Amino acid sequence: MTAKGDYLTTVGVEVHVELATAAKMFCPCPNSPQDLPPNRAACPVCLGLPGALPVINREAVRLALRAALALHCRINEVIWFERKNYIYPDLVKGYQISQYVRPLGEWGWLAIAGDDGREKRVAIRRLHMEEDTCKLVHAGGAARIDVNRSGVPLMEIVTEPVLSSGREAEEYARKLRAILVYNGISRCRLQRGEMRAEANVSIAPRGSGELGIRTEIKNQAGFNHMRSAIEYEERRQAGILDGGGVPRQETRGWDDVNQRTFVQRSKEDAHDYRYFPEPDLPPARLAPDWVEAERAKLPVSYDDYLGELRGLGLGEADIEALTRNDALGFLRLAGEGGASKTVLLAKRLVKDVFSLVNSTGRPLDESKLEPLPFRRAVELLEEGKLNGEGFRKVLETLFNAGGEAEAAARAGDLIIERDDDALEKAIAKVLSEVQPLVAEYRTGKKAVRNAIFGRVMRELKKKGDPRLVGELLDRALE
Ligand SMILES: [Zn+2]
Repeated sequence: MTAKGDYLTTVGVEVHVELATAAKMFCPCPNSPQDLPPNRAACPVCLGLPGALPVINREAVRLALRAALALHCRINEVIWFERKNYIYPDLVKGYQISQYVRPLGEWGWLAIAGDDGREKRVAIRRLHMEEDTCKLVHAGGAARIDVNRSGVPLMEIVTEPVLSSGREAEEYARKLRAILVYNGISRCRLQRGEMRAEANVSIAPRGSGELGIRTEIKNQAGFNHMRSAIEYEERRQAGILDGGGVPRQETRGWDDVNQRTFVQRSKEDAHDYRYFPEPDLPPARLAPDWVEAERAKLPVSYDDYLGELRGLGLGEADIEALTRNDALGFLRLAGEGGASKTVLLAKRLVKDVFSLVNSTGRPLDESKLEPLPFRRAVELLEEGKLNGEGFRKVLETLFNAGGEAEAAARAGDLIIERDDDALEKAIAKVLSEVQPLVAEYRTGKKAVRNAIFGRVMRELKKKGDPRLVGELLDRALE
């Protein structure tokens, strides 16, 4: 039996990502495939009816361009679309509009920590745009078609076969997802299929200088599944090679229950998709000054931003919570222009906003909270215009209903009373009501002070600044 170490693993990853646009790729139908009842987002264009003419969605191109720039791709100035023809039930049009000859971006890279512990730049061969297909819904012994997803803007990102293990492939996919979310390109919700990764895996005897025959592993539910599937394939293919056999070129799925891959279809030759230039769309030119303007609009890179946060002294536990909640892009927008405030905002996000995420089960990007109102709410707390309780109430309002911080604070009657006169009046009123307590206090029972303080705060409907109220009360008692 040959040891596994005698083989070299080579992995390439292809990722499909739905772009976070308002409309579909070539028609004005809403891009919200799962928020509408089935078959409500449809028109002659995305149904491919004869005579319907597609129009390129500029916002989709802009988001794909932003992704290509964030991934250091070379941008092709003139791009065009091709028709990819094939027959499958999820393709009501009979063809998919995609990019083949001239993708939007080529030869980019993304840095991960390689298996040897050093930085590894994973080469990205191409990044192109295309449209998503319909969704097949299997239920009750029947397959139904939902066209809401047909024509949703999709981006495909393909690496060179340069990854060496399931671990590297998993790290690449996680990092890619983080960068796309951070830059507002896609929400990449895996459970909604907004990001789908496939891996090509082959092994070859170490030192042979050749790539083995590759297996394609389809539609991973999660990146950890992709890793498990790659590691299983390493063992399975090694077993075949050890026995003197040759692995077949085929597409396999991952069975997570039994922790193994299984054959989905064998791949004889490359499919003949009969690509030809999309006759309804002329080539498009990406004006260099538009490309440069988009490049200038990119925020500090994901890696550099993480470095900045560490440089500001933010702890690893907070950073881990921020990345786990996909909140780095949100934090960057909230903290723009004020480095020192960033740490304060980060801590409030982790402590107060994520507790709302946990208690509601609603992720930050599905809440109504926006970065700038969040920042303003934290400022109101810092300025003493909100106390801790008021701050949490304002956050809850912004999280559930959106809006501006000050308006929410006023609507909830939460702005703290800092008017000394009003506070002194409230104190005088309470003291006149609790004369027995005041008498006790003056005979030396200092403990009753807390009870009196509580009455004053209730009188102020908890809108008093506790420190200020305490000072004024002590003065009145003396
Ligand atoms: Zn449509």
